[in-house]
Amino acid sequence: MNLTADPATAAPSRTAPALVVEGLTKRFGTRTAFENVSFSVNHGEVFGFLGPNGAGKTTTVRTLGTLIAPTSGHATVAGLPLIPQNGVEIRRRIAIMPEAPGLYLRLSVAENLSYFAGLYELTDGPARIERALRAVNLLDRADELCRSLSKGLRQRVGLARALLSDPTVLFLDEPTSGLDPVAAGTVHDLIDALRNRGVTIFLTTHRLAEAERLCDRVAIMNTTLRLVGTPDELREQLFSKRLEIRTREPLADPERVLAGLAGVESWHRADDGAYVLAVADPGLVAPDAARALVAAGADVLSLSPSQYSLEDVYLRLIDTDVEAQNR
Ligand code: ATP
Repeated sequence: MNLTADPATAAPSRTAPALVVEGLTKRFGTRTAFENVSFSVNHGEVFGFLGPNGAGKTTTVRTLGTLIAPTSGHATVAGLPLIPQNGVEIRRRIAIMPEAPGLYLRLSVAENLSYFAGLYELTDGPARIERALRAVNLLDRADELCRSLSKGLRQRVGLARALLSDPTVLFLDEPTSGLDPVAAGTVHDLIDALRNRGVTIFLTTHRLAEAERLCDRVAIMNTTLRLVGTPDELREQLFSKRLEIRTREPLADPERVLAGLAGVESWHRADDGAYVLAVADPGLVAPDAARALVAAGADVLSLSPSQYSLEDVYLRLIDTDVEAQNR
């Protein structure tokens, strides 16, 4: 790793990963916030960062955002090694939206953005403010006091603030925390729109359905990185494939019908009455199972692969973690 890269010559590359994290650790005295964390995030990716309270998510964001220094390990952020000399240039290329948007409630939306544009020393402030407000669909609310806005709208102003600097990497720390489903859905649509514009998004969230809907890949953290991959990859890693069968009446001799099917490793009856088959490939077994059931005189109500949500994956990983429950 070239730690002495000159920021002036190291323009953000669209082919190199947007973030590379290698063995990163942050301790506060004897308390370890996160330890030996390694992952990378591709350009234009929405990367979900999940984990229980105290797992180290916000501290990771603050570290990658140059707000605090890591204890050990390496990282590259928006093409630049994470070292103090690169702090200013890294901050030019990224933006962080913290959980609380940090607005001046007695100022209007436009006044807030104008203040922050000045703080960030942006030269073409008015044009950037207009672009940012348009991106979050708030152009028509520019003159309203932030105090009079709902939490959802304030969150969108916070997002506009983060977009002022035209970041290539945007860190969103629980952007929908406390929002109602409609306001959260609006933020989801805005994140989708940013993804379509090629912005790399690092999203920490406790809403697993949100991560499932928005993220190309997710990492599950609990001080150390537990798993990283697409939601489908994580499901495959943690759960064997299953085919779930429901019949109008219980089968007279399920062992004879189900155990004889090619590709069925085992079967059991679930508490809700469904027959659950462990299979290597549900698509291959399903037609044979349907034929065998009909031949056995069963009325088949449904026959489908079991669907595991990201929440199932998360709970399987984290629920067993005693440490997480005590934090
Ligand atoms: P949450 O989901 O509740 O926001 P998190 O995953 O973001 O949690 P962090 O806020 O990163 O977790 O905290 C990770 C650990 O580091 C916790 O044990 C926390 O108490 C500790 N920690 C964070 N900041 C500091 C600090 N400035 N000084 C000491 N300990 C800290």
